Amino acid sequence: MEAWRRALDAPVSAFPIAKAGPAHIATLKTFDPPLATLQGRRLRGVERRGKRLLLPTDDGELVLLVHLMTAGRLKMLGAGENGPKQPAFALEFAGGSRLLLTENAKKKRAGVWLLTPEAAEGELAHLGPEADTLDAPALAEILRNDSRRLHPLLRDQRVIAGIGRAWSNEILHAAKLSPYALSTDLDDDEVARLATAMRDELSRGLALREAAAGDDRTYRVHNKLGKPCHVCGTPIARVDFEEHTIYYCPQCQTGGRVLKDRRMSRLLR
Ligand SMILES: [Zn+2]
Repeated sequence: MEAWRRALDAPVSAFPIAKAGPAHIATLKTFDPPLATLQGRRLRGVERRGKRLLLPTDDGELVLLVHLMTAGRLKMLGAGENGPKQPAFALEFAGGSRLLLTENAKKKRAGVWLLTPEAAEGELAHLGPEADTLDAPALAEILRNDSRRLHPLLRDQRVIAGIGRAWSNEILHAAKLSPYALSTDLDDDEVARLATAMRDELSRGLALREAAAGDDRTYRVHNKLGKPCHVCGTPIARVDFEEHTIYYCPQCQTGGRVLKDRRMSRLLR
């Protein structure tokens, strides 16, 4: 998300908005204030909070909040440049450039909210601290107060903002920690390794995204079932935990142990 933010910050603020919309009915989550109130206003740029992008107007009256979820993509097109026929959301700027949100998925999950700054603050109040700002003592404090398995804990935006399931896989592999390890069982060395892995992996991801690398080059563990671990060569394994699929190296992370599936449906049965 930080790579999107940097790429879009200058172009969205270059011209005032000429036309807001169209928007897919499943994508636009708010109707008041109406989208048309954006027209004629200029955006101040792009800010980021966790996995959400915020585009405030420069008069301080409105905030456009964007959550891309898994399949949403943002694209800036120059005047006259051809784009997808039916984007999920579009902003057209004076001069003809366009910001488009597309989502190549059957079920539309990405969302756009047009909010007052107060309402936006309310939406974001439940988010935890940004993952890339946490040092080892701050992380230790979080882990001590929330006894849970590491993979779901890292993904919980209320606890730490900015890590999805792919980066949970990458970070835990880099930290050599089991995705099933309990947060309260980590010793000081392990907490320090996790804090370092969070910072290093997120900055590695950002650098690769800025160099326009795709998922295949960016991820080393996520979605790499059966591929050799880049550290030890052991085939990467996969385990289902609740509704999520976790990827890990059984050599580097679990001391040779293969983790057992714990699907939600099985837990409920
Ligand atoms: Zn390994």
